[in-house]
Amino acid sequence: LRKKGRYGDAVRGNTGDPGWAYHIFQHDAPATLAPLRLRMTTPLVLLTSTTKDIGGLMRVRLNEAYVNAARSAGLAPLVLPPVAPDELMPLLDIASGVILTGGEDIDPAEYGAKPHPAAGAPHPQRDKCELALARMARERGVPTLAICRGIQTVNVAFGGTLVQDIASERPSNINHDQSDERATRLHQVSIEPDSRLAAAVGGSEISVNSSHHQSIDTLAPGLRLTARSPDDIVEGVEWFGDDWWMLGVQWHPEELVDDAKAWDRGLFRAFAVEVARYKEIGDRR
Ligand code: MN
Repeated sequence: LRKKGRYGDAVRGNTGDPGWAYHIFQHDAPATLAPLRLRMTTPLVLLTSTTKDIGGLMRVRLNEAYVNAARSAGLAPLVLPPVAPDELMPLLDIASGVILTGGEDIDPAEYGAKPHPAAGAPHPQRDKCELALARMARERGVPTLAICRGIQTVNVAFGGTLVQDIASERPSNINHDQSDERATRLHQVSIEPDSRLAAAVGGSEISVNSSHHQSIDTLAPGLRLTARSPDDIVEGVEWFGDDWWMLGVQWHPEELVDDAKAWDRGLFRAFAVEVARYKEIGDRR
C-alpha cells in the first residue's frame, strides 16, 4: 500500500490522490498527524463488537449488516473489539462517530439488579468497554447511534435500569424477540413528533423489526423517551441537550437499509450528517 516518496512530499504535493493517506505508515513520518487529518474526507466511525468462541478459537465478531449500513451512509467503518476502558482514548481520537451495536444482555450488576432466570450470560469485558465508551462519547460530544443492546448500554451508562425479560415481566400480544425474522417489520412504533428521531426517520408512526427480549425500564437522567411500541416498550431514546447527538433505537435499522421504506436509511443518513459535522469541527481545530 505504500507509495513512492517521503511523507513531506506527499503532504506538500497532494493533489487529491487518496494514496497520500498511506504515507502515515512510513517510518520517517513525523509524530503528529494533524496536517494529514485535514485531508481525510471520509469520516471514520467505531462499531462495537463482541468476542465469541467459533470453531474452538475466540474471534472478534460483528454482524456485517452494521458495517454495510455505515458504508452505505458514506462512512468508513472501523470495528472496535471489546478493549479495556483505558485503551479507548486513542481509538476515539481517530473517530468522528460511534455505533453501539446489538448483542448480549448487559450484566444486571451494572445497574444494581440480580439476574433474572431468563437473562443471558453476560460479557463483562464488553460491558466495561461499551459503558465507558458511551460516557466518553458524551463527554466529547461524539455523535452516537445506539442500536438494540446499544440503547440499553446508553441507558445503563447514565444510571438507568432494564427490563430483563419482556416475555415474563411485561407480557403482551406482541412478540419482540423474533430473531429469525431480522429484516421483517413486525410491530408499530410511535415516535414523538418533535424529536430528532422523528426528523431522522421522516415519520412518527413507523413499523420496525424486533429482535430483543430486554428493554429500558427506568430511564436514565439526560435521556428523553422518543419512541414506544403499542404495548409500551421503550423503542427509542435521545439525549436531551444539544451537547451530544445520540439517538438510540431498540430495533435493528441496519437490517432495513435496503428496505422499500426510507425510514432506516434516513436514520443512518442523519447520523452521517452529524458525524461529518463533528469531523469538520475537529479538522478546523
Ligand atoms: Mn420491539
